[in-house]
This record gives sequence, C-alpha cells and structure tokens, in this order.
Amino acid sequence: MGDYSSLGDVAGKRVLVRSDLNVPLDGATITDDGRVRASVPTIKALADAGARVVVVAHLGRPKGEPDERYTLRPVAARLGELLGQEVAFATDTVGESAQETVAGLADGQVAVLENVRFNAGETSKDETERGAFADQLAGLADAFVSDGFGVVHRKQASVYDVAQRLPHAMGQLVATEVGVLRRLTEDPERPYVVVLGGSKVSDKLGVIDNLLGKADRLLIGGGMVFTFLKAQGHEVGKSLLEEDQLDTCRGYLSRAAESGVDIVLPTDVVVDTEFPSGDREPHPQVVAADAIPADALGLDIGPESARAFAAALSDARTVFWNGPMGVFEVAAFAEGTRAVAEALTGIDGLSVVGGGDSAAAVRKLGFAESAFGHISTGGGASLEYLEGKTLPGIAVLED
Ligand code: ADP
Ligand code: MG
Repeated sequence: MGDYSSLGDVAGKRVLVRSDLNVPLDGATITDDGRVRASVPTIKALADAGARVVVVAHLGRPKGEPDERYTLRPVAARLGELLGQEVAFATDTVGESAQETVAGLADGQVAVLENVRFNAGETSKDETERGAFADQLAGLADAFVSDGFGVVHRKQASVYDVAQRLPHAMGQLVATEVGVLRRLTEDPERPYVVVLGGSKVSDKLGVIDNLLGKADRLLIGGGMVFTFLKAQGHEVGKSLLEEDQLDTCRGYLSRAAESGVDIVLPTDVVVDTEFPSGDREPHPQVVAADAIPADALGLDIGPESARAFAAALSDARTVFWNGPMGVFEVAAFAEGTRAVAEALTGIDGLSVVGGGDSAAAVRKLGFAESAFGHISTGGGASLEYLEGKTLPGIAVLED
C-alpha cells in the first residue's frame, strides 16, 4: 500500500500529489464526498511524515480557462475538515498564488491548487503544450505522488507528464485500486459475475469484448439494455439507444452463446412517458422487455428482472459492478439498483463497485461502504484496465 520509500525521506520536501477530488456539486455544496475521503490517507501519510503537501486535482469539465462554477475552493475546505487541519488554497494552479502558497507551507502542511483544468495545457493533445504546463507544475515540487485513480487512464499533464519530470511514487489509493483490479483479472474466483449498466453506453460496450473471455455471467441493465433488446429485434420506444452499436451487441450475444458465457438481460422494464425532471410527478409502469410501448422509455429494470439478477449473483465469488440499473436518482426508478446493491452485500467473495454514479448510488440508497469488498473511485479507469488497455498514468510510474 502506497510505498513512498523510492522518494527517500519526504520531511521538508514539497510533494505534489495528484488526487481525484472530482465530486458532484450542487452549487457550492458537495453532494457526495466519497472521492475526497478516499484521497485523505495518502495526503495524511505524507503530511504526517513532514512533507509539504501540494494537492493538484480537477473538478468537472471547464474549457481550459478559469470558470468559477468549477472552483475547487469548497472541496479544499472539505478536505481540511476531513484532515482535521487547515488546508491552504491557491487561487490559480501554477501562477503567483500557487507559488506563494507553496512557498508559505511549513513541514506537515497541506495546500490545494485551483482546478488544474483551468489550464489548457493540462488536457492538450499537443505534447509540447502539455509538457510546458507539466514543467510549471513540476517546478512547484521536489517529488510527485500519483493518487488520482479516476484519471490514471488519461495522458494528461498532472497525471502523466509531471511523473516524467519528478521522482515519483504511487499513492495508497492508486495502489489499492490496482491491487483489486489485479484480483479481478488474474485468476478470479468463480463464478465471476459482471453487472453493467449506466448511461455511458458506447464507453462501456468495449469492456464486454474482453469480459466475454473472462466472466461466467454478464448481467446487463441501465441505459445499455435497450441497444441489446433492439439487437434482439424488440422495439424500445424512446429509450436510450445507440443505433450504431446494434451489430456490436449482436456480435456479443452470439459470441457469448458460443463461449458459454451467460448474458442476462431484463425480462421486464419500468417505463415512463417522459424522462424524470424536477417538477413532473413520475408515472412508473412495469412492462415486458419485449413490449415497450412506442411512446415510453425504459428507466429501470423491472421487479422480476431484479429478482433474477439477485439470483444470478447469489453464488458468485467475484463480482464487478459498473453502472446503475436505472435512474436511481429518482425513487420510482431506483429499485433495480437497490436489488443489485443488496445482492452484492451478500456475496461470499470479492465484490467491487466501480463508477462515480454507481458508488454514489450505493451511498445514496443507504448501504454501508463496508458491506462491499471495494468501492472504486474510478469508473473509466477500471473499465479500461478490465478492457486490457495500458493505463498511461500507471505505466509512467513503472519506469
Ligand atoms: P457510472 O458513473 O457508475 O459509471 P454512468 O455515468 O454510466 O455510471 O451512468 C450513470 C447514470 O445512468 C445515472 O445518472 C442514471 O440515472 C443513468 N441511467 C441509468 N439507467 C438509465 C436508463 N435506463 N436511461 C437513462 N439513463 C439511465
Ligand atoms: Mg457517471
């Protein structure tokens, strides 16, 4: 877990820590602080060892320039509460405020830099532009610790390039996450069941390709379902649909059949005539998965499917779950997600929940985090790892 010995004695050193503090906000109120809490152990360990800790992170998707809506200020305040010590805040990332703030740190103190994505260099595809920004970041510190698991699949200045410019080490969170992913990919205990859902359908279909050779069962819910149902020839009304992925889904269904992997799709669906929105009262209705009315859209798996999914999970020894089964933010469409979460808490083996919204869902639905083997902070990163891709932010630490 988080081995900083390669950095030598960190006391008195300025250590730049890339954390993932990308939390959901409602105005300036943090609605789920899971990622901030997950970032604490590494920051605290370094501060306790006498380092001058400089935290760099992003929030949301600003367009490479300052945007008040995405300021990390409230997040820095929350980090201070969780650490139980004052956290300094720099109003820019590498400018005057950052330099003064870092220069003002005493041993064991912590500062947070303003949103790294307020700088175009952070996410630039141009190596020179990104490198120039990484030079500025590296100039603020003597060493780098990579702990933002949610971004290790990104070749970005604060994740990748900065590690090439400073002595570097893996933080505790990244080390834990990678350890869990290894257990999922190297000889998992069987049955190995994967549950996929959520709304980022095309992002997530790719992982199925690799999982068909690894998992024993694949349960599919959320917005992804409808492309599969349509691929089987059913009408899906106004549901989320990726027309250009129909062939991919058909291919997966036939490969699964050939290789003996069970793909479990819902047999019933909770629909409504509109996507839930603020003032409108939801009108949930349960229909058969092959009889979705033309004017309706599927917003959750139905009760029969929820029972079937729970049954398909009951004997699992390894489970990876990414993506809610329905629009869990609205109570009328949260039961499928609740049933899957409940089933995971009963697993005799390793249960892993991945994905920002999935993690938020289990907390929102009142489950204790300790009821799961591991709640991952990075959805995209874990999926890319499971797809068999190299994660640039991990690979760079191994050099
Ligand atoms: P994660 O963050 O866990 O990886 P995603 O970001 O892919 O998950 O998807 C989460 C979102 O998917 C939630 O906001 C949820 O409301 C939405 N969702 C789930 N089921 C459906 C559906 N049937 N139609 C539209 N959106 C859905
Ligand atoms: Mg999400």
